[in-house]
Amino acid sequence: MKKIKVTIWNEFIREKSQKEIGERIRSIYPNGIHRAIAEHLKSEDLEIRCVSLDEPEQGLPDSLLNDTDVLLWWGHTAHDRVADALVEKIALRIQYGMGLIVLHSGHYSKIFRRMMGTECRLHWRDVGEKERLWCVCPSHPIVQGVPESFVIPNSEMYGECFDLPDDGKIVYMSWYEGGNVLRSGVTFQRGAGKIFYFSPGHESYPIYHDPNIIKVISNAVRWASPTQMLPPRVTPQKISLEKISTPNPHAMVDTTSLHR
Ligand code: ZN
Repeated sequence: MKKIKVTIWNEFIREKSQKEIGERIRSIYPNGIHRAIAEHLKSEDLEIRCVSLDEPEQGLPDSLLNDTDVLLWWGHTAHDRVADALVEKIALRIQYGMGLIVLHSGHYSKIFRRMMGTECRLHWRDVGEKERLWCVCPSHPIVQGVPESFVIPNSEMYGECFDLPDDGKIVYMSWYEGGNVLRSGVTFQRGAGKIFYFSPGHESYPIYHDPNIIKVISNAVRWASPTQMLPPRVTPQKISLEKISTPNPHAMVDTTSLHR
């Protein structure tokens, strides 16, 4: 069986904070959010690698990126530290077929905004309120085996208006105790690559230990996995299929040489 190669990227900063918040997060995710997700996703058909921003080449050397079928992204406080050149490399790999799953505060990451082409801002409030998710696309592979609606007892509110482009397919909507709503699970296609944004996952609540959340992410990994990667596009000056009789006003290119 050919395994799906999954790379979970985490900025891995708040888990290491020496402040009180760091201790709270470590009590939930002692080895980091990325490793907790990896542990829950463990399956025979997946080869999972965990990387973080503090590693060489920000955790994503070409050898790993080019060997990744689906990339998961969790970032919060250090979006601006991710190198623009790396973002462009990831964007290109998505165009050729790699899947991307952007989690929680990754909505404001460089790579998500690059792929969306919008600001991706939203309202937020962290008071530990209840969040209820509703599936709004019951036929989608990402929701299979998950209850139509489920509750996260304590969550960070992410609310509309969420500045997303109009071509997304909404899979989940969230309602929060304080009255806000959000398109909390949305899929996109960019080139050959599939993208899923999933909002639950604030680091100070045990959201990635919730079986429903893990089931959604697990389904999304299989859904976003490419059936085949496209080869890089090469776009040289094209030989014309028809004879071009218009004289070239600049005479820098012999048009007859471009006619096969
Ligand atoms: Zn958060």
